[in-house]
Amino acid sequence: MAFAKNIGFPNGDSRNADGEALGVLLRAEAAGALDAFAFYFEKEFGYRPDAAEGMRNLDRQNFYYDRFVNKRPGWTVAAVPGTSNHGWGLAVDFGGNLNVSFTEEHAWAAKTAPLFGWVWTGKDFGEPWHFDYLGVNVSAKQATEYIARGKLGGMIQDDGFTDQDRATLYALTTGARPLANGYPFPARDAVQNNLEAVITLLRQVATRPGVNLAEVSASLSNALTPLLPRAVADELARRLTKGT
Ligand SMILES: [Zn+2]
Repeated sequence: MAFAKNIGFPNGDSRNADGEALGVLLRAEAAGALDAFAFYFEKEFGYRPDAAEGMRNLDRQNFYYDRFVNKRPGWTVAAVPGTSNHGWGLAVDFGGNLNVSFTEEHAWAAKTAPLFGWVWTGKDFGEPWHFDYLGVNVSAKQATEYIARGKLGGMIQDDGFTDQDRATLYALTTGARPLANGYPFPARDAVQNNLEAVITLLRQVATRPGVNLAEVSASLSNALTPLLPRAVADELARRLTKGT
């Protein structure tokens, strides 16, 4: 998917960053994709990833570049001012366990973030923390496989779900048209429009041996809360547990 780095504002102009994710400013499309990535990261590791810097203005880039070209101790490579992807609102520097390359989290992020359009480009210049948003070019098929491998189903509950259930659930909770960033992330309107069908499917799953309806309900509500208005998620959980 092609998208423009230059949307009419100079590099380093804060108008390039009309979105926000993980507490840093970014291009809205990149922010949405990072937020989706963070959602899966949290499901995997139990905490939100930490971002140290996103959009960077020209003064800041000049500051970093000065330290880089003058080889000040402790300063790393910096792009020529006016060329950094940070200046377009399309780069993020992670903190915490994504600040170094030897953690389980970093290995997972390097492999998973590209599904959301974020690529560990810092690999090429010795920066474990630096990821660029290159746009979502993953095919729908790859994304479907990724989710079918258990990332979405796993959030809900592994026990009791067959591959067919997962495929059905995926179809019901994914918008016919992908989100703006091209990623077929479960879409709020699709979930709401198909609420009855989702409930029917989950009730069927819940009748199978070894499946606890309350657990399915709780984990479903948990999984869907970021995607649905809280009231809808609560209503879904209520109807599942009460059977009405
Ligand atoms: Zn960076």
